[in-house]
Amino acid sequence: MATTRIECATENCAGCMEVDGRNRRDADYRAKKLIERGWTCRACDNRAVVERDAAAGHPALEGSEKQIAWAATLRERTLKTLDPIVSDAVKSAAGRLFYTSGGVCGMQNMVLELAVVVKAIGEPAVREAVEAIRAETDARFWIDGREEAPHQTISAVARRLADEARAMSPEGKAEAAAQQEAMAEATLRPPEPVSETIAELSCRDGRLVARYDERTETFNTTVKGLGYVWDPAAVAWVRRHNSLMMGTATDRLAETAHELIAAGIVVALYDPEARAKAIDRSYEPEHRRWVSLVPSGANEGKLRLTWGRDEDLYSAFRSLPGATYRDKACLVPATSRDAVIDFVEAHGFRITPGAKKRMDEVMAQRQRGIVVDAVARPKAEPVKAKARGDRPDPMDIPEHVGIDDDLVDHD
Ligand SMILES: [Zn+2]
Repeated sequence: MATTRIECATENCAGCMEVDGRNRRDADYRAKKLIERGWTCRACDNRAVVERDAAAGHPALEGSEKQIAWAATLRERTLKTLDPIVSDAVKSAAGRLFYTSGGVCGMQNMVLELAVVVKAIGEPAVREAVEAIRAETDARFWIDGREEAPHQTISAVARRLADEARAMSPEGKAEAAAQQEAMAEATLRPPEPVSETIAELSCRDGRLVARYDERTETFNTTVKGLGYVWDPAAVAWVRRHNSLMMGTATDRLAETAHELIAAGIVVALYDPEARAKAIDRSYEPEHRRWVSLVPSGANEGKLRLTWGRDEDLYSAFRSLPGATYRDKACLVPATSRDAVIDFVEAHGFRITPGAKKRMDEVMAQRQRGIVVDAVARPKAEPVKAKARGDRPDPMDIPEHVGIDDDLVDHD
């Protein structure tokens, strides 16, 4: 390994670079080749881009010196490809440009992607976005967007321009104000919030949804304790609403909100009825101890017992005749109805209509059955074992011992 230093080709520039080689000769050779090609340092390259930029009439960029140099390189590259792509995309969207089948290259792919955007938002909006891009002087815009394909940059800018136009219009301003008011009205704050992040509660498609943009133990423990489970697809904690056992969705939202506020979390709840109930705690607290019916599957017809996560009723449950824990469920055969009824009374459980019907069926079946006064067959006399250490009874030894006649070989 050897290195050779080369200097920037620009006159009076002190820029230099160490060229690596396998050995002295190799490093010198590589250095010579780069000098022949007129190697210049990065500072000079950046300055050259900025000069070309000014010559091309691009507006001056804003940012730190390093950001400006980098952004100028990125802008030069982007603007060079943007115009031809836009004009081809407009033609393609109008059905005036076709690529022959059999492999579309990178450039053609960009055109086709942009043509989709042209069709979606129209040529004027695309042209307007391109002009805005050309006029963009914030160095960060070019640096942040360096990985984006042209159609992505253009649609993002077009969307931003539309948002800006809306924010400037009277209707847009009215809408924003109304939204802000609604949000302020929907927000319930604890006296001393643990954070300013707002938890959003809603009920959609029969599911209670709790969203929170902060990862905290306080929030997670609270919603988990209320029976919510994390849904990675929804990026939220969710709970299927079952009106049979859970009461109304409004009450459940109100209760969730109340519990979160009690834990110090700011909550947004748009449903006015749920919000009112959360504030004055007028919701019916969820009854969590239930006897329900397993409607299908391997355990169909069995009774299922459920209770709150923080309650310990498992050993009491296990004392029920036929009690089993299977498929994450505490199950009892319906024939144990009498014991279940006692259990329900002792521990304040409620019975769903389905489970009640099943228990009644068991009772009816019991009454319908023919009563047979059967007598169990007598048990065999138990054989008394001799106490250890006793002498065994003497064997009866026959007086005459001989071979049975049948067994004697007469041949
Ligand atoms: Zn230089």
